[in-house]
Amino acid sequence: MEKTFLMVKPDGVQRGLIGEIVKRFEQKGFQLVGSKLMVITREQAEYHYEEHKGKGFYEELVSFITSGPVFGMVWEGDQVITLSRTMMGKTNTLDALPGTIRGDFAVHTGLNIIHGSDSPESAEREINNFFKPEEIVSYSKDVNKWV
Ligand code: UDP
Repeated sequence: MEKTFLMVKPDGVQRGLIGEIVKRFEQKGFQLVGSKLMVITREQAEYHYEEHKGKGFYEELVSFITSGPVFGMVWEGDQVITLSRTMMGKTNTLDALPGTIRGDFAVHTGLNIIHGSDSPESAEREINNFFKPEEIVSYSKDVNKWV
């Protein structure tokens, strides 16, 4: 079963959107297998956003993501990586459609509420960056056969 790392960014936590975001992924039919409120370290943030090092927005991004609590989550489900990216909406908030999390709640690209892994490789890397193996809980739900 595919897993992904999703994170409510500091703006989403401050705006009280943790519950709304968890609700959307639960209602979609995905299964939460790990979660925690945390203030991430500069080292974790630099590793997480390594691909953006050197870009104009990088320093601001790292200081933003470490500026306050984030809500990290691991979700499981068929095609959860691609489907959760669709539910998040486009990175640039001008392109994020209504009905998506960014389309419904974000105005600025630098304050776009949520992060989600974009490939199986980044999902594995990101889960390992923020969660210990024992923090991921494996369990089955009978309802999954209806999803
Ligand atoms: N970002 C930004 N300005 C940009 C591009 C990206 O502030 O021009 C921020 C934004 O918060 C985005 C994050 O950098 O979510 C990571 O960018 P990426 O292209 O990986 O987008 P994502 O995977 O988050 O949609």
